[in-house]
Amino acid sequence: MKLRNIAIIAHVDHGKTTLVDELLKQSGSYRENQRVAERVMDSNELEKERGITILAKATSIVWKDTRINIVDTPGHADFGGEVERILNMVDSAIVLVDAAEGPMPQTKFVVGKALKVGLRPIVVINKVDRSDARPAEVVNEVFDLFAMLDATDEQLDFHILYGSGRSGWMAEAPEGPQDQGMAPLLDLVLKHVPEPKIHEDNQFRMIGTLLEANPFLGRMITGRITSGSIKPNQSVKVLAQDGSVVEQGRISKILAFRGIERTPIEEGVAGDIIAIAGLQKGTVADTFCDLSVTEPMVAQPIDPPTVTMS
Ligand code: GDP
Repeated sequence: MKLRNIAIIAHVDHGKTTLVDELLKQSGSYRENQRVAERVMDSNELEKERGITILAKATSIVWKDTRINIVDTPGHADFGGEVERILNMVDSAIVLVDAAEGPMPQTKFVVGKALKVGLRPIVVINKVDRSDARPAEVVNEVFDLFAMLDATDEQLDFHILYGSGRSGWMAEAPEGPQDQGMAPLLDLVLKHVPEPKIHEDNQFRMIGTLLEANPFLGRMITGRITSGSIKPNQSVKVLAQDGSVVEQGRISKILAFRGIERTPIEEGVAGDIIAIAGLQKGTVADTFCDLSVTEPMVAQPIDPPTVTMS
């Protein structure tokens, strides 16, 4: 199955949860018996009830034979390092902005980091149904924000969709058409977001992006597989950034995002975002790889974008 990995960036209350719920519903990615009312990005409460901690809130949607992993980004500066690592795991970002409020200061921090890692975001002007919506002005404000954050010409030339997550539609103009549902956004993700970059050889490699302590499975590391594949019981090596061996061990469990749940899978393939259990020491920024791999992957450098604005 083809894959796309995307982050979602939004100020609190700009409609992220509602939008992702609608994407799940309209793509048919909720399992039949799943309560549609369960709010995706709010799933932390549920996880707490079940005694599971989830740091990376992610959702996976299947649209036209492509799996789209949508990873939430914490909006607070306290999560600085985590935000950068998450953004290094995806190939674009949806920047969701309330059509009345416009971009808020807290959005700026994450958008700035997304631009720095070289992502070309898709801008969604949400809640255009509000009586005080001012979509044209808000687009200008987003443009000014990107420019202020030293976006490149390419990044400034962003795709824009307008719509209402709550009413379940997206379109290229603020007035619609409203009868296409969320398809314009999902189609744009398939068209605009690059496929995950995959190393040419078939050896398993993954950079640790998030670490969590799962009460049932123990230490879990989430990351995107950059090459090869991994199965439960496989032995892997963990390399630190300086190339030293942190540990070798056996993978006990592999989880992937499927709909709003994290589900055990029998094989993780290149490009997908997974979580692995079974190791004792490996941590974020380490390379998890086949025993034959000797070179760690270097977390993508974060170069300042070249400013080419006239
Ligand atoms: P989040 O904090 O970004 O996850 O935002 P939520 O999805 O929880 O939405 C925040 C509030 O905005 C809720 O009261 C939603 O009902 C409302 N909301 C979400 N989408 C829309 C929309 O498209 N139009 C309007 N008018 N309200 C919306």
